Amino acid sequence: MSAVKELIAAAVERLGDDLESLSRRIHDNPELGYQEVKAAGWLTEFLETRGFKVERGVGGVETAFRAAIETGEGPTIAILCEYDALPAIGHACGHNVIATAGAGAGAALAAVRDRLPKGRIHVIGTPAEEGGAGKVRLIRGGVFKDVDAAMMIHGWDKWIAHQDLLGIVRVTFEFTGKAAHAAADPFEGINALDAVIQTFNNISMLRQQVRPDARIHGIVTSGGAAPNIIPEFAAALFYVRAKSLDYMWQLQKRVIACAEGAAQASGCTLKVIEHDSAYEPMKRNETLLDVFRANMQRVGAPESPEVKDRLGSSDVGNVSQVIPTIQPLVKIAPEGTPIHSCAFEAAAVSPLAREGMLAAAKVMAMTTLDLLSDPRLVERAQQDFRNPR
Ligand SMILES: [Zn+2]
Ligand SMILES: [Zn+2]
Repeated sequence: MSAVKELIAAAVERLGDDLESLSRRIHDNPELGYQEVKAAGWLTEFLETRGFKVERGVGGVETAFRAAIETGEGPTIAILCEYDALPAIGHACGHNVIATAGAGAGAALAAVRDRLPKGRIHVIGTPAEEGGAGKVRLIRGGVFKDVDAAMMIHGWDKWIAHQDLLGIVRVTFEFTGKAAHAAADPFEGINALDAVIQTFNNISMLRQQVRPDARIHGIVTSGGAAPNIIPEFAAALFYVRAKSLDYMWQLQKRVIACAEGAAQASGCTLKVIEHDSAYEPMKRNETLLDVFRANMQRVGAPESPEVKDRLGSSDVGNVSQVIPTIQPLVKIAPEGTPIHSCAFEAAAVSPLAREGMLAAAKVMAMTTLDLLSDPRLVERAQQDFRNPR
């Protein structure tokens, strides 16, 4: 087995320059969620020329893809790629590195195809992580139905095998009141902006009574047309995040009650729009993490302790709730660089990012090899999934 791992490492090294230029091309052409036409095109072309059978537009999502290699009856292991950028700040989440680490892992496995144990490898292109819930659509579209275990990496300022993710649900409040001249006839008006402001105040009070890892944050998306008109319409969008799904839904009810109270107080009518794309918390899988960690050691990647108080959210959480899944963090930026910052955007094409991307490609390919070689590991991962330790 370790001879094949050496071949995998050598294959990744050989592909290093190609992967780095692909990463830079995606980085320098940032595309928003569901518009990642170029990135999906380049990645599928890369995988196709290395022997993968590629299906585009899987799960009914145009910029999604599945690239598959099959060596016989055995487990199906998925390696996930993301490649969407952020509005205004481009690849400040480093998804170009996620994409090329995944494609690189796939290509390295394809390079040792003749020595692979029986099974299937799927490199899956998952669009629109940044708010678009692309993986939720792929889950509904059946893309993960036959997958036994999945992995992806995310760029960070350290290597961390497991990091919790908060569940997140989005809710919009639209208040309708009555317009009137703000100076001549204010007593004729019903102020929808007041209802929005009162909602924020109610939520500020609620915040003291919530668990420390919960997060509630919102913006005003519509706040009136002119100061001399009592706003007839106003709206706000809130994100509600929590570590457990139960608590997230419970908290969302309390946030909705804050808006209902504000509607009552202001005399407005309220329309609550519950967005159908909750991101779920990350379900931890110790078996997959152990295999990944052993391969991290093999390539010399030093593991830092889990960070408990700086948590985000991702739709990979939803994948982890339907099949055994891991999303280790990989060092691609100097320590202390926050993600979604201009500094992280610059780091995502630095020599450090190349180093992290190639190491991650090796570790994912080796982890896939281990799972294909010993289907009992896959069974154990599924036991973990059913009964988390
Ligand atoms: Zn992000
Ligand atoms: Zn991200």
